[in-house]
Amino acid sequence: MVEKTGNKIFNKFNSASLMQATYLASENFQLRALFEAKDDILNNGKYNEINFYRILDGLLDAETERKLIIDALKNKDPLLMEEIIELIDLPYENVIYNIIYIKEQGFIKEIVEEEKTKKEVNGETKVETTLIYKYILNNFSNGFKENFFEPVSIVFDSGYCCNCGWCSSVCPLDAIKVSSDNLEIDQDLCIKCGLCYSVCPRSFSIDQVYNNLYQTNKSLQFSNKIGFYRSSYSGHTTNENIEEVKQDGGVVTALLEYLLANNLVDAIVAVQHSEDLWKPEPVIVDEISDLYKTAGTKYANSPSLNIIDQTKIYDRIAVVGVPCMMKALFKGALFPASIPFFTNIKIKIGLFCMESFSYDNIINLVKDKFEKELSDIVKMNIDKGKFIVNLTSGEELKVPLKEVQSYARDTCHYCDDLTSDFADISVGSIGSQAGWSSVILRSEEGEKIYMDAVKSGLIKSKKLTEVKPGKFLVEKIGGIKRKKCKPIRWKEI
Ligand SMILES: Cc1cc2nc3c(=O)[nH]c(=O)nc-3n(C[C@H](O)[C@H](O)[C@H](O)COP(=O)(O)OP(=O)(O)OC[C@H]3O[C@@H](n4cnc5c(N)ncnc54)[C@H](O)[C@@H]3O)c2cc1C
Ligand code: SF4
Ligand code: SF4
Ligand code: SF4
Repeated sequence: MVEKTGNKIFNKFNSASLMQATYLASENFQLRALFEAKDDILNNGKYNEINFYRILDGLLDAETERKLIIDALKNKDPLLMEEIIELIDLPYENVIYNIIYIKEQGFIKEIVEEEKTKKEVNGETKVETTLIYKYILNNFSNGFKENFFEPVSIVFDSGYCCNCGWCSSVCPLDAIKVSSDNLEIDQDLCIKCGLCYSVCPRSFSIDQVYNNLYQTNKSLQFSNKIGFYRSSYSGHTTNENIEEVKQDGGVVTALLEYLLANNLVDAIVAVQHSEDLWKPEPVIVDEISDLYKTAGTKYANSPSLNIIDQTKIYDRIAVVGVPCMMKALFKGALFPASIPFFTNIKIKIGLFCMESFSYDNIINLVKDKFEKELSDIVKMNIDKGKFIVNLTSGEELKVPLKEVQSYARDTCHYCDDLTSDFADISVGSIGSQAGWSSVILRSEEGEKIYMDAVKSGLIKSKKLTEVKPGKFLVEKIGGIKRKKCKPIRWKEI
């Protein structure tokens, strides 16, 4: 509950403004929808009473903060994020993510201005354009109405859903079913709480949250092509079991083995082959021996975050996934309640990803381009601009990547993240030699785990800047993906 006594966030506000903000917060549609459906939610069993009230409490606190911010912005000219942070006595992170949420609720407008600066490069004058973001309250007269977040069928029906599965894990009524290429909502179960929309990586952009949160962190390096990070390496496993099954350097499986072997997590969400060969199936693994079945890349999409809610029996888990999934988990820890829905997610290992394919198109691609069946194939790989298949016969066949790009999922064209910007540890093949993985360490925990795994002898590692083609190529391809990404354009909701 919002209270002043002992509450480090709210004790700087006077009782009258806090009372007013709490009153306004209690009218929030998400709080009301959840509260009114309490019995159905508890009967469904995904969230127990403690968790239900933890989420509700977080939501009330977050909404109260938003109302305090709205109050502070009254009669102000457009302000930069740092000016708003100065204006209000809330932790800077809270101001940053709340401003973006308030914008989505319709209370404030974002104004984007271009700032041009001249720069001398090799004797030539170049003009650089920087985008400046400012925020101002909307006009509340003229029939202003807060935006109510629709269920995520609007994301799917607009063709933007990347089928990560996150909304289905978060939905308190289990009303959403996500498969690798479909999403359905049971309208009889849905209470229109909009939680799914708040956490969906494709609903509203969180780029400004990401940039503002990390740009002042002195221990991070930044590239507009591969995001914020602490350090980067090229590594490969020394473990013979992993060597046999790995995709590139086996770094992902080696890290997962290190986490389980050293009791740093209790289980891992990864992907293995389903009964249909090359069709990925998300799995929860808590034994090292089962880990080896998950190694290797399956290029068809896996809705891995579907099963996060099934990991509740474990206190600490690691999740492996593609960049859109890393973004989904990051967003779900911020919105709508500024607390994670599942507190057991300790480490996120993100893969590099240029695109993924529907399972049907994996079958079509292998038939059309290689005249083979899936059962003929032991490995698929994307390397040096080629789509490569290794056959049971030992033969290797390849076609230029651009020939298979029409088989990729349309939704991947709206994705601008190659290197899993939102992960703790990102791993891919681009930038490293064959049999090695490029590793980008982003969080302090992620860096410690990787360095400890190297110290333990499970991974051999070199600096990514010291190998060829190295970080230069990761940044180059990362920049290409950002550039060719199609913008998501929403109609008014
Ligand atoms: C769809 C897809 C596209 C990719 N595209 C690129 C690319 O363009 N450039 C690049 O450099 N790297 C890409 N990668 C990453 C690359 O293929 C390797 O996964 C990465 O280099 C790690 O290799 P490794 O040997 O360390 O992994 P391994 O030790 O072999 O472990 C692989 C891990 O990947 C997980 N995994 C496998 N398939 C999937 C899936 N469909 N969804 C989620 N997780 C999965 C497994 O659970 C396992 O934990 C892609 C990966 C995927 C899944
Ligand atoms: S959370 Fe994931 S699966 Fe759900 S609508 Fe959004 S993108 Fe699709
Ligand atoms: S489908 Fe979305 S809006 Fe409906 S109950 Fe589930 S989370 Fe809430
Ligand atoms: S390209 Fe983007 S949207 Fe497509 S699977 Fe990869 S991370 Fe997800």
